[in-house]
Amino acid sequence: MPRTIVITGGTVVTDTGEFRADLVIKGEQIAGIVADSSDIEFADRIDATGLLVMPGGIDPHTHFREPEEFTKEGFTTGGAGAAAGGITTVIEMPQADPTTITAPQLKAKIEQVGKTSIVDMALWGGIVGQPLQDPEEIAAMADAGAVAFKSFMASTSPSFPAVNDDQLFHSMKLVAETGLPYGLHAENDTLVKAGIARMRKEGRTDPLAHADSVPPLVETAAVNTALLFAQETGCWVHICHCASSSALRLIAEARARGIMVTVETCPQYLALNTTDLVARKGFARCEPALRDQEEVDLIWPYVLDETIDYICSDHCAFTAEQKQAGEKNIFNAPNGISGIQTLLPVFYDAAVNRRGMNRSQFVRQIATNAAQMYGLYPRKGTLAVGSDADVVLFDPGEEWIVRGEDMRHKQQWSAWEGKEVTGRVRRTIRRGETIYDETGSGEALMLAQPGSGKFLPRGYGAQLPG
Ligand SMILES: [Zn+2]
Repeated sequence: MPRTIVITGGTVVTDTGEFRADLVIKGEQIAGIVADSSDIEFADRIDATGLLVMPGGIDPHTHFREPEEFTKEGFTTGGAGAAAGGITTVIEMPQADPTTITAPQLKAKIEQVGKTSIVDMALWGGIVGQPLQDPEEIAAMADAGAVAFKSFMASTSPSFPAVNDDQLFHSMKLVAETGLPYGLHAENDTLVKAGIARMRKEGRTDPLAHADSVPPLVETAAVNTALLFAQETGCWVHICHCASSSALRLIAEARARGIMVTVETCPQYLALNTTDLVARKGFARCEPALRDQEEVDLIWPYVLDETIDYICSDHCAFTAEQKQAGEKNIFNAPNGISGIQTLLPVFYDAAVNRRGMNRSQFVRQIATNAAQMYGLYPRKGTLAVGSDADVVLFDPGEEWIVRGEDMRHKQQWSAWEGKEVTGRVRRTIRRGETIYDETGSGEALMLAQPGSGKFLPRGYGAQLPG
């Protein structure tokens, strides 16, 4: 007999509504959502009075590194940050160590998930240029279980060379045959290089020089190309970490014309701005760069009207020393910020508390939409009978201050250092097992065992959200 757990007294928030109910979990699945669970026999009862009971978050954009070494963020440490942040599923990017651009590499990574992961994981496959990888690997990676593909249109990492326009166009034709989303780091390579050269010529090394080198137009130019190619090839194109309102306008227009396009953004483009880049220097360097508040305010409407399908962290775990290198010259700090643990509460605070988003939409953009896109729905991304019992208990009223030292992931710094957030993850349950808990009287507990996370094959057919 599978163990029965009841979660009582909370407010259940699903992708379609919120209501007072008790949640019944049997083994790894949700067995019931009932008005009153008092006649149900249970092995464990969790009191969620005053808390929101929501589906565990899904973070489809992380850069962990395996095998884990000192400077790297592995599946265990990255997963610990996820668990403490209410994230029960991550979809790991192929730009990692080792790069995942062949089916054997993908299979090796699947095996690694079973050894070290503590949240459930699906995997992206990568497509690199210079030289273009073996095209047959695209179908082979799809067969091996990749949920999507990823390329860079601008070179930011020597280990993951960008595709040029010709390579992108031909790769789109191949990805179109798989029916899977093709995620793009969409920045125009020529404009990125020219921007950096211009800053160098002007002798600029200040934090804002990074933002000035890659203004929103750099993204818009690449997105424009990607949308044109998507129209020509029928490929489902997905724009990663979009931080350009003019690109978002093109995406919304393209979608209205029937082009298969989805888009994500990150809390750093919604709840930080260039003031934070000046203050936090290298610790706030990411690509795309943080935007000024005017641009941030222009991006928000696309979150609120759900043009943006989901919010992800783009978690990169560089060491504090690596980020400190941007102190005197911003370009010496590597691009990328660690944010998996703050993803859910920071987005909740920014969207629900400050912009009036309803909580069901919050659930869609933090869980449901991504599950649908990556073929994991309805196993993941929703609270429904038969779904995996991935649940986050969230206190919407709790005020707390972000401190790097409180991060459970390996590199204990945060671009949100010192920021006040209202709303906090109190307990995270993955397939019926509590993996993080701070509802007790003592210290918060990280309870997940390395290797308890499962690889998630795409099982339900990728679909557009909604
Ligand atoms: Zn990324």
